[in-house]
Amino acid sequence: MPILENELGRKCAYSECTRIFEGRKDKVYCSDQCRNAAGRKKKKVAIWEEPEHFGQVNRIIMRNYQILKRLYNETLTPIKNWQLSDEGFEFKFMTGIYRLDEGIEIFMCYEYGWYQLPDNKVKIYFVPPLFLTGLAKVTKE
Ligand SMILES: [Zn+2]
Repeated sequence: MPILENELGRKCAYSECTRIFEGRKDKVYCSDQCRNAAGRKKKKVAIWEEPEHFGQVNRIIMRNYQILKRLYNETLTPIKNWQLSDEGFEFKFMTGIYRLDEGIEIFMCYEYGWYQLPDNKVKIYFVPPLFLTGLAKVTKE
């Protein structure tokens, strides 16, 4: 016979359980087993920790960002790759790619990014966060 939910029956609050049960109004689980299982599941979610490499990657990107910010100049005068490397810059780590209309791809670390020039030099760009997230568009004057 199929189990039907009626006004007396309630679905067990444990997500893995499909039972319909009756009982006191404040009872949300069909059994102690389900209450305990739900408790364990909640705990498991709560103690999930960020894998260690997330922190390492984040630190590399933050360092890249600080280096770009420090070496940025408004005239976009190219600087040499080694000037970045010397500070501990890691060219493989970025948060995204920003494309200029001219087809130039800038590797971004948050709002600062670099564009690799052929002669081991880079141009450092600043892109306001609103443009970066695509919430605003660059308009040509
Ligand atoms: Zn249950």
